Amino acid sequence: MKKSYFITGTDTDIGKTVVTMVLAMLLQERGIKVGVMKPVQCGGTDALFLQKSLQLPQPLSVINPCFAPEPLSPHLAFRRAGKKINLKKIQAALWSLQKSHDVILLEGAGGLLVPLRQDYLVADLARDLQSELVIVSALRLGTINHTLLTIKMAQAYGLKVKGVIFNTISSGPAGIPEKTNPEVIQRLGRVPILGIVPFLEQKGRVSIVKKCQKKIQLEEFLKPKKPDEHWMTWDKQYLWHPFTPMKDWLLSEPLVIESGQGNLLEDTEGRRYIDGVSSLWANLHGHRHPRINQAISTQLNRIAHSTLLGLTHPPAVELAKRLCEIAPKGLTKVFYSDNGSTAVEAAIKMAYQYWQNTGGRKKTTIAHLSNSYHGDTLGSVSVGGIDLFHRVYRNLMFKTIAVEFPDFYRCPLGKKYPDYTHECLDKLESLFKRRHDTMAALVIEPLVQGAAGMIVWPDGILRRIVGGCKKYDILFIADEVATGFGRTGKMFACNHEGVVPDFLCLAKGLTGGYLPLAATLTTQRIFEGFLFDYEDQKTFFHGHTYTGNPLACAAALANLEIFQKEKTLKKIQPKIKYLAKKLRTFYNLASVGDIRQKGWMVGIELVKDLKTKEPFAWEERIGVKVCMEARKHGVILRPLGNVIVLMPPLAINEEGIDKLLDVAYKAIERVTSNQEGKND
Ligand SMILES: *Cc1c(COP(=O)(O)O)cnc(C)c1O
Repeated sequence: MKKSYFITGTDTDIGKTVVTMVLAMLLQERGIKVGVMKPVQCGGTDALFLQKSLQLPQPLSVINPCFAPEPLSPHLAFRRAGKKINLKKIQAALWSLQKSHDVILLEGAGGLLVPLRQDYLVADLARDLQSELVIVSALRLGTINHTLLTIKMAQAYGLKVKGVIFNTISSGPAGIPEKTNPEVIQRLGRVPILGIVPFLEQKGRVSIVKKCQKKIQLEEFLKPKKPDEHWMTWDKQYLWHPFTPMKDWLLSEPLVIESGQGNLLEDTEGRRYIDGVSSLWANLHGHRHPRINQAISTQLNRIAHSTLLGLTHPPAVELAKRLCEIAPKGLTKVFYSDNGSTAVEAAIKMAYQYWQNTGGRKKTTIAHLSNSYHGDTLGSVSVGGIDLFHRVYRNLMFKTIAVEFPDFYRCPLGKKYPDYTHECLDKLESLFKRRHDTMAALVIEPLVQGAAGMIVWPDGILRRIVGGCKKYDILFIADEVATGFGRTGKMFACNHEGVVPDFLCLAKGLTGGYLPLAATLTTQRIFEGFLFDYEDQKTFFHGHTYTGNPLACAAALANLEIFQKEKTLKKIQPKIKYLAKKLRTFYNLASVGDIRQKGWMVGIELVKDLKTKEPFAWEERIGVKVCMEARKHGVILRPLGNVIVLMPPLAINEEGIDKLLDVAYKAIERVTSNQEGKND
């Protein structure tokens, strides 16, 4: 892609347009084809001035696609003119210039934090136009602060700062600030000074070129964009990826994600993709949400990490309080760790030790469902039942009770729904009855069993299971690592059926998908089971180095604040209905056997034969193929075997849902119609 530079100022009226003109002129003199744009203009004649002085052949509507007549901040000027700043039009104009030019200069409007729309700033535009930033600063007293602020803000926004160009705005002799500022800014801002435009009295091209020629480091603007291939090479040389058949990986062409914004991920070549699985079920409000970014960076300027072993800190305390306020009533204590597996393990260890501490010494077994997934550390693997992931470690695992449980799509031979469901529930209850005196706890993923293939439970099952636990005093561990924080349409899956677990395990969405953090919430009763004298040695001896990391807690607090401020749960309700309606069309596809949805969690199961529900053989890698096909069309997905998972950030809008579903639909259609033994 051709290089483009976004020229912004530390302030308005410091000569951005003049600097843009000088830069373009010098490049033209070198025989470089320069395209120039002023994407947004409010009042004035900047674009016209550039067009004339540079003799640009493009019509004014290309040079300046968005214009409002009053010289005001754009968000106001355009509103008062009854117009909108049309990003698509700007992008189209830029692309057309890029086709026939070597370098593009884009002149901004005002400074980086000037609003173009209510919540869209000049900095957002610079980022969306994928341009490096050139900061124009006036050579005068007071410039250090303004320039450094602009540099810092740009970097905080993830913009690449090419460097600073100074504009001399008075004709007098240079004073001390004019002479020393550039050096100070280079040192403190750590960006190059790309030149100093002298005071220009005469406007003639020849005299401008002559005066400025040696003052600008033109070479810097002509360096070609560096290819980023080394990421792929080094990745294959040094990285071992999770859950990844590495032999296949080494033969593949890895996709390198460099940045993200909202629901989109962007690779090193500037291609964008919908984040169709929320970066592994974690992201909620979109990438680079200003509130979460700000919270992390504010905390970073206080302290990045301090331990909770023997000390405490405000973000951990405040988050614990907030979590207890929003969790099902009765959960009053928060124990932190740093991922979903450890959140579950902490719960299991606590449940076990609770009985040891309080005299229920025979209660030592943990029960779980046969097709469960609770994480990858050995403790959570022990309560897992996904054969492919867990089988090989069997000898390393502790003994548990695996409870047979339906997947609600395929019934075992000779059984029927809902009878089979009741049969399973009855069996569970009789198990409780027979063995409750040895059972410490039951751990389940309430309502949606994620990794098992997005298995969604019919209403009432959760309540019945929890009822059984309470009746026989078996501690109930709700693993809401995946279902928590709005994924099912309510804050927690337990809310749907009004159940209160003894342990609530949270991770994935806890920080909005920004940083690793997990929490195990529990009740006063369990907590008191550990309140003994020091000498009794009944403490919960468990804790990780980064338990309750302050940066992660700050992100989690911002996450909860967004739920409140942006009314996230309310906003997603119509979108969930919309999603459900659109998903029904997938049944038109001959290979779609089952569509499972709970709120924002969707699994589309592909089968070889609709009538017999015969699955595609795993060797066919149908799920992987569909996801690779979707990737070609700008959507990132990750399957669970033959189940296509859709789980975009909660923040995605209807337009995003449309694109996600259209791409997924076509990908399934293309891949399965190429497959042998297809259904018609
Ligand atoms: C992802 C997941 C886990 C494990 O979380 P990690 O952070 O990957 O360790 C545990 N339980 C459920 C239900 C999950 O979906």
